[in-house]
Amino acid sequence: MNTIENYNFSGRKALIRVDFNVPLNEKYDITDTTRIDAALPTIRKILDGGGAVILMSHLGRPKSGPEDKFSLKNLLPYLNKVLEQEVQFADDCVGQQAKDKAAGLKAGEVLLLENLRFYKEETAGERDFAEKLASLADVYVNDAFGTAHRAHASTAIIAAFFPNDKLFGYIMENEVKHIDKVLHDAGRPFTAILGGAKVSGKIEIINNLLDKVDNMIIGGGMMFTFIKAMGGKIGGSLVEEELIDTARKALYKAKEMGVNFYVPVDTIAADAFDNDAGTKLLPSDQVPEGMMGLDIGPESIKSFEKAITTSSTILWNGPMGVFEMPNFEAGTKAIALAVAEATKKGAFSLIGGGDSVAAINKYKLKDEVSYVSTGGGAMLEYIEGKELPGVKAIKE
Ligand code: AMP
Repeated sequence: MNTIENYNFSGRKALIRVDFNVPLNEKYDITDTTRIDAALPTIRKILDGGGAVILMSHLGRPKSGPEDKFSLKNLLPYLNKVLEQEVQFADDCVGQQAKDKAAGLKAGEVLLLENLRFYKEETAGERDFAEKLASLADVYVNDAFGTAHRAHASTAIIAAFFPNDKLFGYIMENEVKHIDKVLHDAGRPFTAILGGAKVSGKIEIINNLLDKVDNMIIGGGMMFTFIKAMGGKIGGSLVEEELIDTARKALYKAKEMGVNFYVPVDTIAADAFDNDAGTKLLPSDQVPEGMMGLDIGPESIKSFEKAITTSSTILWNGPMGVFEMPNFEAGTKAIALAVAEATKKGAFSLIGGGDSVAAINKYKLKDEVSYVSTGGGAMLEYIEGKELPGVKAIKE
């Protein structure tokens, strides 16, 4: 893999695509610095190796042109603090000022460019724009896994201008390495746990993983599309009618492939989508009209726990129920604990996707699983089996 680890940065200018898309409050202060903090090891590695660093990122979704609330200038106070230097700033990511500042940059210094998405050329993936950015530096480093599934100018197109000097930063390297391990080199038994609201976002993942796993566990709102496909009564539970046939095909495929397909046998059904709703524990295929399943039940939990704690590899994406509401979080919490227990016994566990990461954090288990992916959409597309433009551009 082309990574920054063994590259000689001495006397060279590195243009790093970072993911500094951090949340800002109404005073434009950063409210969560996780994404910046995650990129610091890559930045420091290059500075310590005698290089200079030019940082480029997007922030928010500007509609057309510059807007103060999307300015990367807002990040300067925090960057100055953590990098212990006065970070320079170019208030246009391309153009004469950026060129002059990049040219004058000395070893150990850092220049931050203004928001890439102030130009529509960025998301359009325009080659000329990518070339202008490329002209600022000697080496390109991509450390923005969260946008690796997009063929934008700064995430993919630009790499062609650095045929011998394009590298993965540490975040990218770690994400790719850990997801590849699960997809291509999994210890067995391999169990995938998929939950969340919708089958539609997950069906390609299910289909891709059915070729690889021993156990496929389904939970969350999407379980009811499968239960309906099997002829069950689901009342007012979440369902995607147009995907019932697709769900049925996945069930057949699982049977053909010899995959144990776990669909919850019981559910906590509620008479309203509300934490204080009246509830009843029911067989998951006998939910009456006027009720909806909002969590998996204790029997399902027990069988899922058994599969999980006897696995060598675990991939988890999506909650088992409406875990944001305390009365419907038991399933998700039990599964999170089972994944942690399996990890303690030596399993490799990869957690990915916004809500399962939120769940792991909620139950303070981040340090008790093997790897938590920060990728979101990029991670999901990767486990669907797609080649990510940002990864491909560095590899080829
Ligand atoms: P996703 O973005 O598809 O991973 O879905 C995550 C969301 O699914 C969370 O906000 C959960 O509250 C929701 N969810 C999980 N289980 C259910 C369920 N049984 N009914 C409705 N929503 C659910």
